[in-house]
Amino acid sequence: MNLLEAFLDLLFPPKCPFCGKVLEKPGICPACEKDLPWIEGREGLREGAGGLCCAGALWYEEKAREGLLRLKFQGASAAAEPMGELVARCAAEHFSGEFDTVTWVPVSRKRLRKRGYDQAELLARAACRRWDTQPVRLLEKVMDNPAQSGIHDAAARRANVLGVYDPVGDIARKRILLVDDICTTGATLTECVRVLEDAGAERVVCAVVALTRETSKKVHKQGKN
Ligand SMILES: [Zn+2]
Repeated sequence: MNLLEAFLDLLFPPKCPFCGKVLEKPGICPACEKDLPWIEGREGLREGAGGLCCAGALWYEEKAREGLLRLKFQGASAAAEPMGELVARCAAEHFSGEFDTVTWVPVSRKRLRKRGYDQAELLARAACRRWDTQPVRLLEKVMDNPAQSGIHDAAARRANVLGVYDPVGDIARKRILLVDDICTTGATLTECVRVLEDAGAERVVCAVVALTRETSKKVHKQGKN
């Protein structure tokens, strides 16, 4: 550790992204490592309509939900580092050798100005650090649509994201890993995959920190089974 890093560590000590506990080195605290709602095996791969293929590390419940809400709304952008590692792990488990480019589901410019960071970009950067590469911007959010979290009907969620993303840069024949924080109904990811494939991508697979359970409406509200 160099002097600047040591100094920054004093000012901003690493914290567990899920419970906020101060840690000696960046990562996930042992208690969370044990208690997080990890997804086992094939359940961690969601295949949906429109060719969606999405891997997730955790169920979007309990501590996973708290950590992701903190990442998104409380400015805890340092939490993206250990969470990005989870994305890298599950992408490697399910899609090894299937992608050569990494990108993310972007927020709009307006949202970026307000929040100061794009959480999915930070996750993609953190994941890419494990592979010694950099993510590439291939999508731009061109419309500020209402948040998906406020819309519960699946068809309305699909309609809400239709046409809000534009392709950017050279996409032709790329095999892409698309990173986001959560996959709920998959409407946003499905739309992004469609835009990338229309722009010539050969294949797009997705990886997120957390998936909601398919029967998730009740789970969501009660916080557990
Ligand atoms: Zn913790």
